[in-house]
Amino acid sequence: MTVPSVDLAAPNGVKWSQPVGLFIGNEFVASSSGETIASIDPATEEVIVSVHAASAEDVDKAVKAAKTALKSPDWKLLSGSERGQLMWRLADLMEAKKELFATIEAWDNGKTYHEALEVDLVEAVAVIRYYAGFCDKYFGQVISTTHQKFAYTLRQPIGVVGQIIPWNYPLSMATWKLGPALACGNTVVLKAAEQTPLSILVLGELVKEAGFPPGVVNFINGLGKDAGSALVNHPLVDKIAFTGSTATASSIMATAAKTLKNITLESGGKSPLLVFKDADMDQAAKWSHLGIMSNQGQICTATSRILVQEEVYDDFVKRFIETVNTTSKVGHQWAEDTYQGPQVSKAQYDRVLGYIEIGKNEGAKVATGGKALSIGDKGKGYFVAPTVFTEVNPSMRIYQEEIFGPVVVILRFKTEEEAIALANDSIYGLGAAVFTKDLERAHRVSAEIESGMVWVNSSQDCDPRIPFGGVKQSGIGRELGEAGLEAYSQTKAVHVNMGNWL
Ligand code: ADP
Repeated sequence: MTVPSVDLAAPNGVKWSQPVGLFIGNEFVASSSGETIASIDPATEEVIVSVHAASAEDVDKAVKAAKTALKSPDWKLLSGSERGQLMWRLADLMEAKKELFATIEAWDNGKTYHEALEVDLVEAVAVIRYYAGFCDKYFGQVISTTHQKFAYTLRQPIGVVGQIIPWNYPLSMATWKLGPALACGNTVVLKAAEQTPLSILVLGELVKEAGFPPGVVNFINGLGKDAGSALVNHPLVDKIAFTGSTATASSIMATAAKTLKNITLESGGKSPLLVFKDADMDQAAKWSHLGIMSNQGQICTATSRILVQEEVYDDFVKRFIETVNTTSKVGHQWAEDTYQGPQVSKAQYDRVLGYIEIGKNEGAKVATGGKALSIGDKGKGYFVAPTVFTEVNPSMRIYQEEIFGPVVVILRFKTEEEAIALANDSIYGLGAAVFTKDLERAHRVSAEIESGMVWVNSSQDCDPRIPFGGVKQSGIGRELGEAGLEAYSQTKAVHVNMGNWL
């Protein structure tokens, strides 16, 4: 049964007709159980709209639609160039609706409208275009052996891919996963996070309009424990690509093992940022601020542990706190001067405030922030003051555990060896940043830090052309860049006996 869209008007005046069904086989259909989940504005705590939530039965329908599409000549026999055309069209359609997408992201996630428009949407469109270009430029090899034998490899899709994304960058995360999957000819069932279910459904409309055959791309909403788990358990799903917490990644890996599914996991982090005494202090303070306070601190690569060489410690801390206090204006997501909107949900708000209390009880010093904020007259919304802890030691939970909010710890170190040891004292290994003007040191430390990415004299620099991913408990596999294609294709070897061998 198809489900009609619901007319919405956002606080910034943008109006549209929001699909609320499950996007399966290019139609918006009702969930079999009739269950829904509510999308909530974290600034006002009011319900925006409810959308259909997939049960295991709906997941089965979506997976079967993807399986049928995988075998269908309409998709299977498309040339790489034709697949690329579909993706270029999708990117153009997304770009034409960028204000609408930014409005939706701001409304149900709480991120600022201007950041959604200028950062998230630009990236989402760029990622689809980047992978569209690969569609007809990614193929196997001919391998020289003997004159009697001809051998070559085919790069083939993995099959039906289940993709599970988080709520911090809903549309970007969807494109990071859709781009390479479609470029390699897979079909997809993608589940959005329950906190941010809306943008993906509007993207579904554009997938259809761009001309993708039914079933190639399916978007579902639903709870992780129901729809997410059903997707990971489904025997017809060949691969799971996941971004989210390390605990969920670990449980997905265990479940996927039962049917030996291919997996790509991008999970938590507690990324270090090292400031050496020869660094440009203005730059270090500016980037350290962006590295933890942007997107409400809800970034898996957030540089949430700042390590500063003792000679410049006092100077850095003073500049950093000044930057936090002058730049991190907390407010509603629509205001032009807001830097930090509300945390995405009550659960995240409670979690962040819980960690702030843990830090205080552990004996760390609150250098600024350290509390909830009341914005506006009704006292509603999940607003947290940007918080800086000093007097921290590595055994504290606030040093070791991922908080996923606008909370940072600052420590001092004496030598490069100590800085590297402190940086690597973590179960995580996602990002890391190094501030120094010494080129040799920059490269030496970059090589020694246990992480999937290092930023020299910056933080959070992200580019569709450059691989993204983690080591240790931060993940398995890479997204973005050419490396991202490896996650969505498999190599088949063909050995041809030319007729006169043996
Ligand atoms: P967070 O704790 O920040 O919400 P999660 O890792 O729980 O992060 O969620 C990230 C994504 O994983 C969401 O789409 C969520 O619905 C999904 N998810 C959560 N639990 C499971 C699970 N057991 N199996 C599959 N997906 C899950």
